[in-house]
Amino acid sequence: MTRKINLDLSSVENREMRLGSIISWDGSASELAEASNYDIRGQKRTGEGGGCAGKKGPGCKLCELNMPFNQQTMCNHSIVGCQVGNIPDCILIEHSPIGCSAIHPRFNLGYRIGLMRRGKEVKNLQIVSTNLLERDMVFGASDKLRRSIRDAYERFNPKAIFISMSCSTAIIGEDIESIAMEMEGELNIPVIPLFCEGFRSKHWSTGFDISQHGVVRQIVNKNPQKQKDLINIVALWGTDYFTELLKPLGLRVNYLIDMASFDELAQASEAAATATFCHTLGSYMATALEEKYGVPQVNASQPYGFAGTDDWLRAIAKIMGKEEIIEEYIASEHARVLPKIQELREKLKGIKGFVSTGSSYAHGMISVLRELGIEVNGSIVFHHDPVYDSGHTEQNTLKHLVDNYGDIEHFTVSKTQQFQFYGLLKRVNPDFIIIRHNGLAPLAAKVGIPAFAMGDEHFPVGYDGIIRVGEALIEILARKKFNQVLQRHVKLPYTDWWLSQADPFILAKHPEILEEGKQ
Ligand code: SF4
Repeated sequence: MTRKINLDLSSVENREMRLGSIISWDGSASELAEASNYDIRGQKRTGEGGGCAGKKGPGCKLCELNMPFNQQTMCNHSIVGCQVGNIPDCILIEHSPIGCSAIHPRFNLGYRIGLMRRGKEVKNLQIVSTNLLERDMVFGASDKLRRSIRDAYERFNPKAIFISMSCSTAIIGEDIESIAMEMEGELNIPVIPLFCEGFRSKHWSTGFDISQHGVVRQIVNKNPQKQKDLINIVALWGTDYFTELLKPLGLRVNYLIDMASFDELAQASEAAATATFCHTLGSYMATALEEKYGVPQVNASQPYGFAGTDDWLRAIAKIMGKEEIIEEYIASEHARVLPKIQELREKLKGIKGFVSTGSSYAHGMISVLRELGIEVNGSIVFHHDPVYDSGHTEQNTLKHLVDNYGDIEHFTVSKTQQFQFYGLLKRVNPDFIIIRHNGLAPLAAKVGIPAFAMGDEHFPVGYDGIIRVGEALIEILARKKFNQVLQRHVKLPYTDWWLSQADPFILAKHPEILEEGKQ
């Protein structure tokens, strides 16, 4: 069988190369699902379908709109910071100029809130920067890195040290792998090189894969003692709603990798299964654990809405050999939550929503809104993976959304581009937006649309998640008047010409407009 994840190599192939991920597209959800050709691409990943990635021959790529510029973005070096930089008893050393660490205050806030949500000791991030200067760029900075590793070891006594590459250290060719091996021998703890220089990938989500790759390669227990009641949930900083959801199946949850301790990460290979709240985030680690340690991953969509949660619980019950109890559990949960959901549907009648989040998470979020009877005819995802690492058709979340909840007319892929956001919102004119990557939320507020910044990503999970979202939306919609007042007093920083454009992708289709504008 073809191996999907190569743990022999220290570096990870980018998502755009591995999965054919794109960052710019405009059309309906059903068109994107069809163009993605998940099944064929999945067969390629599982080695069943030969060499073609799509219909047009070897290497066929999902077509994307080429925008002439990016207004702003994150990079996978940053994502590594908010992943392995969030392991309480380990240290991350960023081998980079200090500017690459500028996002730490925001990450620190997220980390502290996350620790609080999980009932863990609240503390600050422990990330060290080698603070590269001009001189280091000319003469190299390997000794500075060695010194930083020794200092971090003495000062923090970590159980493992990660080293992250940046654009600058990649340009001057710093050999962090050799230094990591040398220091691992000296300190006798895992020292893990992560090749996450920002220009490596056009989408930040490659940083999730790089972080998970390092953990599975060098932290996970290589001689696992199986724990039959342990389930890995690849997650971020969300509240622990999974324990309650999985309790009837007699399962204990092991969250990976944010806020997990070294020992919790190590036991990932001992679990009975791996699941996730979002395949965009979790598919790489789940597939790596499955291939390397035989930990089966949950072959289902995601636990959102009735259809998704039912399928997800059934798939877990199948792995655990608990199929005889699952139907009764599902039926009793439906009966418990339905009266409240009917009440919310009445209150939310005639409301139109817009979802702007990471890729497969948006598929789940839209399912929840449609369960609540909310119209959704527009959405932005920040990138799109035409297939996930497992290649399993049961995990095709976009198809699951379209098949179970219908099409979305304007389903856009755009990487947090403020200047496009105005046109995308105007096109569908929603009553509210749900958003992650909150930098975009103020723009919605300025055009009179209340924004629900979904900080706790587990909020919509499971049957109770439908109720949680419905109740929160009633509070969010009550702010509409405030946003309308705000709109009257705010001027957007764009020209009237740009604000009057009907097509937010006109610059991709006619880049010559930019040249004409300069004349
Ligand atoms: S790694 Fe590169 S892209 Fe990322 S913050 Fe540093 S310079 Fe910017």
